[in-house]
Amino acid sequence: MTVAGDKPSCDRCDAVCCRLTVVLMAEDDVPPRFTMLNQHGVEVMARDEDGWCVAIDQGRMCCSIYEQRPTICRKFAMGGPYCREVRADYADRNARGIPLTLY
Ligand code: SF4
Ligand code: SF4
Repeated sequence: MTVAGDKPSCDRCDAVCCRLTVVLMAEDDVPPRFTMLNQHGVEVMARDEDGWCVAIDQGRMCCSIYEQRPTICRKFAMGGPYCREVRADYADRNARGIPLTLY
């Protein structure tokens, strides 16, 4: 479970960064079944009804296409500002019982 204030660690996280929008780059080589076009016609990673990327391994909450993960995912820094922000928001929503929404 993600807890705000914890030192971020992917091993102890619900992979909440995998609920963010992931725009694909020309150089990305993601299996098409995991992608979709958004309302602006931009190719992105598809997400399930709870907002997680469809490439996530739900049992282990880690990326099932790690070797083929998109450029944006490769650049996402554990413990960086975006990591801390999304973890804090997720923990706050859980604590207050607020339903998750798509980012
Ligand atoms: S990068 Fe941050 S938000 Fe993403 S899984 Fe790791 S600790 Fe969680
Ligand atoms: S491709 Fe992998 S690392 Fe990127 S958002 Fe999806 S599950 Fe997470």
